[in-house]
Amino acid sequence: MARTVILGAGVSGHTAALHLRRLLGKEHEVVVVTPNSQWNWIPSNIWVGAGTMPKSDVLFPLAPVYAKQGITYVQALGRTILPHGDTESSQGAVDVEYTSPERRGQTERLRYDYLINATGPKLNFGATPGLGPDAGHTVSVCTADHAVHAAEELAASIARMKAGERQVMVVGTGHGACTCEGAAFEYVFNVEHEVRKAGVRDLAEIIFFTNEYELGDFGVGGMQFEENGFRTTGKIWTESLFRERGVRAITGAGATRIEEGVIHYELLDGSEHTQEFDFAMLLPPFTGVGINALDAEGNDISDQYFAPNGMMRVDADYSGKPYEEWRASDWPKTYQVPGLDNVWAVGIAFAPPHPISKPRKSPNGTVISPAPPRTGMPAGVMGKAVAMTIADRVKGRGKPAHEASMAAMGAACVASAGTGLFEGSAAAITMLPVVPDFEKYPETGRDLTETKGEIGLAGHWMKASLHHLFIYKAKALPGWQIIPE
Ligand SMILES: Cc1cc2nc3c(=O)[nH]c(=O)nc-3n(C[C@H](O)[C@H](O)[C@H](O)COP(=O)(O)OP(=O)(O)OC[C@H]3O[C@@H](n4cnc5c(N)ncnc54)[C@H](O)[C@@H]3O)c2cc1C
Repeated sequence: MARTVILGAGVSGHTAALHLRRLLGKEHEVVVVTPNSQWNWIPSNIWVGAGTMPKSDVLFPLAPVYAKQGITYVQALGRTILPHGDTESSQGAVDVEYTSPERRGQTERLRYDYLINATGPKLNFGATPGLGPDAGHTVSVCTADHAVHAAEELAASIARMKAGERQVMVVGTGHGACTCEGAAFEYVFNVEHEVRKAGVRDLAEIIFFTNEYELGDFGVGGMQFEENGFRTTGKIWTESLFRERGVRAITGAGATRIEEGVIHYELLDGSEHTQEFDFAMLLPPFTGVGINALDAEGNDISDQYFAPNGMMRVDADYSGKPYEEWRASDWPKTYQVPGLDNVWAVGIAFAPPHPISKPRKSPNGTVISPAPPRTGMPAGVMGKAVAMTIADRVKGRGKPAHEASMAAMGAACVASAGTGLFEGSAAAITMLPVVPDFEKYPETGRDLTETKGEIGLAGHWMKASLHHLFIYKAKALPGWQIIPE
């Protein structure tokens, strides 16, 4: 009997758990440790935050799904990994702290044969004073509850406009080193769409506030598209979408402090500015969730396995070589943690070897440059690959590890620009590969036939269908395994 413990039931961990359960006989145990009782389809949170979808549509309880699948569900936070065991046993273990109402605060040491760290990001609002909905002055759409609060604030802002008041609405990144610009891009267009629907567009100044050097970078170094024999850049394509909607962009901006109604920020040229706002949704930067590692004697060995940002080191090149020397091959393939042959980190939990966009700093040394995005599709693909690797190992197949490099896989991102069966639209962006490979594609780093951007109503229908498909899959309903990640 082999026991696999998976930390985190987000896109990557939940995908890994379902596939592993499918691939292994019931004599092998699959354990999921995750703090929340509900699964959240995070990409649809932007609709909750725009007030166009109820929170209940993006959440469902995990316990019945795991009970039906035969997955052991531990509602807890993973706190400490003991990869070499402890004084009682050399078998790897993880210390967890329960978050369920019945056992809140209790701790337990769980032994494992295989461990997957899929803990996603810590939403690091604390990196910018005054950022975030809890202790700050801005809203967020990163969790379903944040999104509900964002929708309330958006409705209040729209109500003020209906009463004749002008409003400044800012959407974007709340720190120079943020990632997930795509989510801010979606949300700003949804806000614009809702304001227009409410008939008060003339009273709203809508600003996209981003750490990207130029629009269309998206943390992937931008894209080039070829359509009908014509070449265009992601920058021109994205700029035209902003211009069509009358959304002004502030680019190359790092928020340094937020006060009630005011963003203090620095630009890439080192100049300092302020931007007033009545409504602001600013994303936080991400770090690892703060899991540490101990050796069998209880000494802290976190530095061996975690990067300074708390994300876990895997089979990538972390040598810190200069930008000019970066290669697609620096990116991890198997997600196995070096020195530990039974531990993997997937999704946002793994430490990227370096940014994808060229890193930029202001003359004051402030990093104002997107961190690499790790969207849902790669997160799911990695989770499945690691599940297949573990299944092979448990079955003694002696096969090489399954690979899922972001420098080899494509990704599709359908970014909503407003909902509505006939008035909705979405920007569908596909790219291959996610991390540019200039050895394989010397001109642009990507396959021009597979890298595309289209916007229109069909994109909205696709985005709405994906919402239902992925929730269906996550509920492990019949035939879920044929729905791709
Ligand atoms: C607003 C928003 C919109 C987005 N839109 C899109 C989109 O349109 N398309 C797209 O592809 N991607 C989108 N993304 C990105 C997508 O959500 C992520 O790529 C994906 O969720 C990453 O999966 P993950 O498993 O790494 O992390 P998560 O999905 O965040 O899952 C991490 C899990 O770990 C749990 N956890 C945290 N700490 C611990 C701990 N100590 N122990 C155990 N468990 C722990 C968490 O509770 C969670 O269940 C969006 C992200 C945001 C924030």
